[in-house]
Amino acid sequence: MKCILKMDIRSHIREVPDWPTPGVSFKDITTLLEDPKIFREVIDKLTQPFESKKIDKVVAIDARGFLLATPIAYKIGSGVCLVRKKGKLPYKTIEESYQKEYGPDTLTMHEDTVKSGERVLIVDDVLATGGTMAATIRMVERLGGKVVGMSFIVNLPFLGGEQKLSQYPIHYLVAYNHE
Ligand code: AMP
Repeated sequence: MKCILKMDIRSHIREVPDWPTPGVSFKDITTLLEDPKIFREVIDKLTQPFESKKIDKVVAIDARGFLLATPIAYKIGSGVCLVRKKGKLPYKTIEESYQKEYGPDTLTMHEDTVKSGERVLIVDDVLATGGTMAATIRMVERLGGKVVGMSFIVNLPFLGGEQKLSQYPIHYLVAYNHE
């Protein structure tokens, strides 16, 4: 589900070569958030396919996902749930571990943040290998949530995430075909 954009979003994303490790081209979306017009358009476009769907919760992935999920939830009129790195959430949590592009990691959610039967949209800035999103989906589904879809600014399909998650609706604004 790639969408047509009025503005050239790609030109507002800063590419930082060899960060955080050699060979990785980091897609820095902070430059895009700094521009009020492009920020508004990005939030509108990330939300659009889900506006007509019933969404109870928007799940936000640590940390740049927080910046996108919150205005999307406000537009949709749904609540926000946090996925955080292990050790950051204050109440009882569930967790899932996974292999990241730059090493192993564990994500957590509060055990009561998604209620059984709730319909969920998951939001992050970049889809790479899909490990982060797959771990998030496992937690949402363990809590009884139904994943209605996911929304990203950037898709890096050559890293396999889109294929790995192909049974779920994936919406994104820009794809890069190589690092
Ligand atoms: P993955 O689990 O491999 O799909 O990685 C996705 C997560 O890592 C997202 O939360 C992104 O913010 C971050 N990430 C992975 N690769 C990149 C990249 N090339 N540029 C920016 N962020 C990335």
